[in-house]
Amino acid sequence: MPATPAWPPKSLPRLFVRAQLGEGVRVDLDGGQANYLGKVMRLGVGAELLVFDGSSGEWLARISEAGKKRMALTVERRTREPEAIPDVWLAFAPVKRTQTDWLIEKATEIGVAKLIPVITQRTIAERVKLERLGSIAIEAAEQCGRTRLPPIDEPVSLAQFLKQADRAIYFADEGGGAPAAHAFKPGPAVILIGPEGGFTDDERAAIRGVSNAIPVSLGPRILRAETAALAALAAYMTVAGDWR
Ligand code: SAM
Repeated sequence: MPATPAWPPKSLPRLFVRAQLGEGVRVDLDGGQANYLGKVMRLGVGAELLVFDGSSGEWLARISEAGKKRMALTVERRTREPEAIPDVWLAFAPVKRTQTDWLIEKATEIGVAKLIPVITQRTIAERVKLERLGSIAIEAAEQCGRTRLPPIDEPVSLAQFLKQADRAIYFADEGGGAPAAHAFKPGPAVILIGPEGGFTDDERAAIRGVSNAIPVSLGPRILRAETAALAALAAYMTVAGDWR
C-alpha cells in the first residue's frame, strides 16, 4: 500500500502575504510574488499554494485570477494553527552585510522569536537596513515552514539594551562564562552576541554589572560573531527550546 502522501504536500509553494487571512478572503499579490508564481513556478488559475500572514497560521489558497504582472488568490481553509515559538530573542552587534544577512536567515530558520541589532563601541556597521533584513526573514520563514515572523527591532545602543532587557541575558563571552550546556534555562531569554572585534572591557563590565546577565562560554575557540550567534541559539534550543 503506497504511503498516504503528507497533507498539505510539502511541494506546495509557500508565501507570506500582507493581508488578514480567513476563509474566502481575496488576496492580491504584489508584482514580485505574481512573477514568482507565474513565471518561476509556472502556475496559473486553479493552482494551489500555502500562504501565511505572520499571526493566524497557515492557509491553503488557490489562484483565482492571473494576469501579466498581477495575480489574485482565494483563501480556502486553514492548514495549520500558529506554532508556539520558544521565547528566545537574539541581540547582536551588526557585522558585515553578508554575514548579517546570513545571521538573520539562519536565526529565523532556527526559530528565534525576535531580533535586536545592538550598537557597541566596536560595531562596524552603523546603518542597519531593516527592510532588507525583514525580507530575508520572510524568505527564511517561507522556506522553513514558520507561520510567525520574528520582528526585527530598531537598532539600540548597548546601554539602552541593558536598561530595557527585562529577561535573562545570556551574554556570549569569549573571555569565559558558564558552559552553554548548563547555562541555558527554559523561560524568556535574550542571547547577546558581540561584534567581530568583541566587547570592550568597559562594555564587558557594564554587561556583567546587570543582575539578569549570565556570561556563557561557547567553548575554547574564538568563533566568528555570526557563528557564535547560531551556536548559542542551537544550544538554547537543545537545552531550553523546542529541540528537547
Ligand atoms: N574579541 C574577540 C577577539 O578578537 O579575540 C573576538 C570576538 S568574536 C569574533 C565575536 C563575538 O562572538 C564575541 O563578542 C562573543 O559574543 C562571541 N563569541 C565568540 N567566540 C565565543 C566563545 N568561545 N564563547 C562565548 N562567546 C563567543
